[in-house]
Amino acid sequence: MNDHAANPARPRVYLETYGCQMNVADSQTVSAVLRRAGYVTANGVEDADVVLLNTCAIREHAEEKVLHRLRELARLKNSRPEVKIGLLGCMAQHNRVAIMEKAAFLDVVAGPDSYRRLPEMIGSAGFDASIDVRLDRAETYADITPEYGGGVRAYVTAMRGCDKFCAFCVVPYVRGRERSIPPSDLMREIGELAARGVKEVVLLGQTVNAYRFGDVDFGALLRMIASIDGIDRIRFTSPHPSDMSESIIEAMATEPKVQPQLHLPLQSGSDRILAAMERGYTVAEYLDLVARVRAAIPGIALSTDIIVGFHGENESDFEATTALMRSVGYDSAFMFKYSVREHTRAFRLGDSVSEEEKGRRLTALIALQEEMSLARNHEMIGREFPVLVEGPARRGGGMMSGKTPQFKTAIFAASGIPAGNTVRVRVDSATGHSLMCSIS
Ligand code: SF4
Repeated sequence: MNDHAANPARPRVYLETYGCQMNVADSQTVSAVLRRAGYVTANGVEDADVVLLNTCAIREHAEEKVLHRLRELARLKNSRPEVKIGLLGCMAQHNRVAIMEKAAFLDVVAGPDSYRRLPEMIGSAGFDASIDVRLDRAETYADITPEYGGGVRAYVTAMRGCDKFCAFCVVPYVRGRERSIPPSDLMREIGELAARGVKEVVLLGQTVNAYRFGDVDFGALLRMIASIDGIDRIRFTSPHPSDMSESIIEAMATEPKVQPQLHLPLQSGSDRILAAMERGYTVAEYLDLVARVRAAIPGIALSTDIIVGFHGENESDFEATTALMRSVGYDSAFMFKYSVREHTRAFRLGDSVSEEEKGRRLTALIALQEEMSLARNHEMIGREFPVLVEGPARRGGGMMSGKTPQFKTAIFAASGIPAGNTVRVRVDSATGHSLMCSIS
């Protein structure tokens, strides 16, 4: 969005984003919608005419964070009643009644399919809040080019929604059914990003590999995007194990721009719990997929998502998860305690594992993953990789950083290499989180 200093008369909006990469991408779409309507970016809530929170409902913890922020914004609304405050995203969709009870001062409540109407909603919010949380089976925002930030990497939404209805998950209820963005729109958008210097695109979708538009499946889409000049690297997140077709594995194996990295959410290593979660695969099927992917793409980095303490998970289920994590040897993992979400299929099942026990299992799993991440990174020592340079390393001291093809952070002594260049490095040492390298 335009800078307010250059456009002092225009309304100023401050947008805060919570949650996943999909929400970050949605905020870029919101920014584009509001820019078209004449808004500019405020520096903070203090100088904003409109404050919007783009929220997440996946876990209770995420909702609590937003409720805490709303309590702070209540004070702002008290002192400056003319400021319009809006709640966007999954939480707005999930629990609008409860939220309106807790934050009656909200002017706008908009679900993920209502962003096109935001300027109108902000304009019409008066004594009563303007609320639109209808889900729209057709809305993809395909014609709106999001306001991408700078940098060598851009996150591009390829599909929206989810049809899987895993027992624990609110996504199908808050983001609606699967809709894929036409390949022609994606090609145009990514072509524009390449012209602006973006070198790497990460295709996003709640189940991104379920992408299908006409006869273009996700494997075909990867190949189409690989044909765009200027784009050197392609990644995607998050795929669902059940949609990991041979066409996708083959595109990953044969198209050099598709990077050797795969996030493959497991959730549990117990068949009993996977069935209760309604994940749609068994442990054996998951392991077979891992074996096929590793055979087709040697050196691929694998990461995963795990939920501990799902209703009914006993000690042997948990041990099955730790055993499976050991046998796969993930490069990294996102691990969470199960939190019951209203409106999901698992809501009625209950929550049999105590918070204390969930905490114990989570701590054990994190320790195990740290050990495995370190071991996986140690295997890289002595090897060489092309690294896409992102800029100076956070630690400073004449160091620069970038990502290897496996999406590992490489840190190396150098200066003045422009972001977007690719350099070849050799790994000298490793921690669980990064690789210390020298230019080879
Ligand atoms: S695949 Fe399952 S966990 Fe993932 S977004 Fe869809 S319902 Fe949620």
